[in-house]
Amino acid sequence: MADAPAECNIKVLCRFRPLNQSEILRGDQFLPKFQGDDTVVVGGKSYAFDRVFPTNTTQEQVYNTCAKQIVKDVLCGYNGTIFAYGQTSSGKTHTMEGKLHDPHQMGIIPRIAEDIFNHIFAMDENLEFHIKVSYFEIYMDKIRDLLDVTKTNLSVHEDKNRVPYVKGCTERFVSSPDEVMDVIDEGKNNRHVAVTNMNEHSSRSHSIFLINIKQEHVETEQKLCGKLYLVDLAGSEKVSKTGAAGAVLDEAKNINKSLSALGNVISALAEGTKTHVPYRDSKMTRILQDSLGGNCRTTMFICCSPSSYNDTETKSTLMFGQRAKTIRNTASINLELTAEQWKRKYEKEKEKNKTLKETIQKLESECWWVTGEDVPETERTTSEIVTRIESVEERPILDNDTSSIVVRISEEERQKYEEEIRKLYKQLDDKDDEINLQCQLVEKLKQQMLDQDELLASSRGDGDKVQAELGRLQVESDCAKAEVKEVLQALEELAINYDQKSQEVEEKGLQNQLLAEQLSQKMASLMELEAELSRMQEVSGQQRKRIAEVLNGLMRDLSEFSSIVGNGEIKLPVEISGAIEEEFTVARLYISKIKSEVKSMVKRCRQLENMQLECHRKMEETGRELSSCQLLISQHEAKIRSLTEYMQSVEQKKRQLEESHDSLSEELAKLQDQGNTETHTQKIMKDGEKGETEDGNVKKAPRHQGESHRGLHHKQLARLRDEINEKQRIIDDLNDRNSKLELELAQIRADFERLKSQDSTKSERLEELSFLHERHEQTKQDLKGLEETVARELQTLHNLRKLFVQDLTSRVKKSSEMEPDDSGGSCTQKQKISFLENNLDQLTKVHKQVNDPEMRLVRDNADLRCELPKLEKRLRSTAERVKALETALRDAKEGAMMDRRRYQQEVDRIKDAMRAKNAMRRPHAAQIGTFPCSSMPSSRVTSEVHCGSEVDDSNRHYMIQQETAAS
Ligand code: ADP
Ligand code: MG
Repeated sequence: MADAPAECNIKVLCRFRPLNQSEILRGDQFLPKFQGDDTVVVGGKSYAFDRVFPTNTTQEQVYNTCAKQIVKDVLCGYNGTIFAYGQTSSGKTHTMEGKLHDPHQMGIIPRIAEDIFNHIFAMDENLEFHIKVSYFEIYMDKIRDLLDVTKTNLSVHEDKNRVPYVKGCTERFVSSPDEVMDVIDEGKNNRHVAVTNMNEHSSRSHSIFLINIKQEHVETEQKLCGKLYLVDLAGSEKVSKTGAAGAVLDEAKNINKSLSALGNVISALAEGTKTHVPYRDSKMTRILQDSLGGNCRTTMFICCSPSSYNDTETKSTLMFGQRAKTIRNTASINLELTAEQWKRKYEKEKEKNKTLKETIQKLESECWWVTGEDVPETERTTSEIVTRIESVEERPILDNDTSSIVVRISEEERQKYEEEIRKLYKQLDDKDDEINLQCQLVEKLKQQMLDQDELLASSRGDGDKVQAELGRLQVESDCAKAEVKEVLQALEELAINYDQKSQEVEEKGLQNQLLAEQLSQKMASLMELEAELSRMQEVSGQQRKRIAEVLNGLMRDLSEFSSIVGNGEIKLPVEISGAIEEEFTVARLYISKIKSEVKSMVKRCRQLENMQLECHRKMEETGRELSSCQLLISQHEAKIRSLTEYMQSVEQKKRQLEESHDSLSEELAKLQDQGNTETHTQKIMKDGEKGETEDGNVKKAPRHQGESHRGLHHKQLARLRDEINEKQRIIDDLNDRNSKLELELAQIRADFERLKSQDSTKSERLEELSFLHERHEQTKQDLKGLEETVARELQTLHNLRKLFVQDLTSRVKKSSEMEPDDSGGSCTQKQKISFLENNLDQLTKVHKQVNDPEMRLVRDNADLRCELPKLEKRLRSTAERVKALETALRDAKEGAMMDRRRYQQEVDRIKDAMRAKNAMRRPHAAQIGTFPCSSMPSSRVTSEVHCGSEVDDSNRHYMIQQETAAS
């Protein structure tokens, strides 16, 4: 399987981290002194490695100088391993992982993930790659799968080539760097979730990232495979330094055990003399068996702290590195040959054998030739060798490493040994598994034992508690026993007492019977008395009724009297019934009131009489004055009559004068005419005497014409005068009517005001009444609640009383039954009865006391209830009156409106007449005759009475002005 194995040492690289913050603050010394690329001096001693990285080396430099080559090797089919060894916080994780997603600070693992794929993409396209990754950690020698948290204790097995591997470990196929990173992230997350203190955990566990690369040439079908282990080891410090103790110390020892196993393996390999290498001491060394002195190219990073504080750890780490440096590995390509290749190899070997055989034969012949002896064929060593070689030729070459053994032992033996070894290893593996199982079982049992211990402790505590309880209970039961004894004694005493008492009770019973008989007799007499009482009550009720009637009559008379005497201020309750005394007192009060009223009346009467006398006196005086006035009036009337007569005569005279003036003016006109004709005749006579007749005619015609004209004029004048007189009369008439209407209007207005004031007072009254009504309702409800509570309390008291009586009777009965015969007990019984009777009396008193205010309240309530409908009736009547008044008011308003309209119409009519007259008399005055009221909308007028009346006033005023203007 292996091809061209090459021996090489493990590469050891030393890396120092810089001083950290706390070390600087502490003032630690910086120990290492770097000499060249590969040497470091610490504490005067120099250590040489394949490479020493000083503190300022970048991640990239580290990767390029060492890890890059390993990736190439793995892709060529070699196995590879990178370890990081060192104390905690020396930079192992920083070197292996770094900051996973930071391109500058990322460590070897993420760079490898990227690099692998870069190489693959640059390689022959006929190559097919299968890349699997696994991620697990070893803690306390248990393998935990970081990609499947359920796998916590995996075992190590060997494959057919006896190469150890972790059995059942999760393998993820990846096809890109990102997928690899995802797997790492997932594993790291799982690791974080599983533990509480990550720093502590990571310093005590080894984490291993495995990359398995298989490649196949598509055409030649040649297969190569390489494994790359990337191991971040646990901290190499000593346990004492961490200050661990107890369980933690055990754990630390266990961790150190695996690390010391690694140290032992390395020491054994470094010495090179020991035949046994203790790979099987721990799972880690077992897994990394190939990496340490096997078929692997191994690189180990020795991480160191530069601080003087970590001096010893640094030195031991450096020593470890020195030892590891001496280990030699034999790395070979893991090549799987194809059938063709096998065949060719076989032919080649066969050819080799043939030549070898030939040389051997040649040598033999040479030997015979030298010794001259004939050695029999079977004794010749060469022939043995030849046969052995032949036998080797016959079997297929399986492993190149075993060829040296084949030479020394026979084939059968070898096979037998191999078989045995395989079997033994198989057994070892099985035993491993078994040990694992047993370990798990032991763990489980330990846990169970712990649980059981806890349970035992708790049950022991419980037992103690129960014991204490038991003691307490026993004490209690003793007490109880003593008590029971006492109780029994008491019971005995009670029984004796009971016997005595029962005898007493029997006696009492007999006495009771006697008393009961007496009681029945008394009851009978009581009944009779009650019957009599009821009769008496009836009689008294009738009498009362009669008295009430009489009183009613009296009251009525009194009220009538009061209504006559007083001015309605004093009022009496109309219905009289019930408490007569109260009524009497009321009546008395009433009468006293009436008395005082009558007294005041009499006083007033006297005053009035005095006033009357005075009035009479005054009236006589006024009569006298009146008669004198009448005389004066008659004189004035006579005077007026004479004056009017005089006026008429003056008028007539004026008429006559006018007529004479008319006649005179006529005459004047005649004379003027005559004058004219004379001048005319004179002219004509001067002209000639002919045409005398014509002249006479001319004179006669104008005279006749003037006469007729004048007569007409006179007639017309007289008619007009008459007409003027007539009109004047009409105007006077209208003025009279107008004033009358005004008066009416004023009256109506006064009525309206009065009604309005009445209305307002009524509404006020209504409000008051409604307020009273509300208050009344409220008090009614309050009273109802009060009544209910009182009734309930009464009921409970009643019940209590009943119960008490029942209890009493039953007790009495019992006592009478129990003590039938005891003369001494009768006295005590009597006392008891008297005491109980007293109690009963007190109770009834209390009951009455309780009842008294209640009764008063109830009475008050009833009175109020009686008064309620009356008040309601009054309220209703008031409301009705208010309504009636409102309707009356409305009617009055309507009437006023009607009057107003009529008045307006009248005024319109007069105005029209006036206008007509004016038109006749003064045509120029027509333009004044516009009436502003006519433009006013009637609806406004009806709706706004006040406004309307105002407008009305102004209109009237305007009209009067017009009339005066017209006249
Ligand atoms: P370990 O894994 O050995 O316990 P870490 O790798 O966790 O230690 O390193 C401890 C601290 O030191 C980390 O904070 C890390 O960043 C820092 N550190 C380690 N090596 C270097 C270095 N070469 N350069 C800078 N810082 C470093
Ligand atoms: Mg770490």
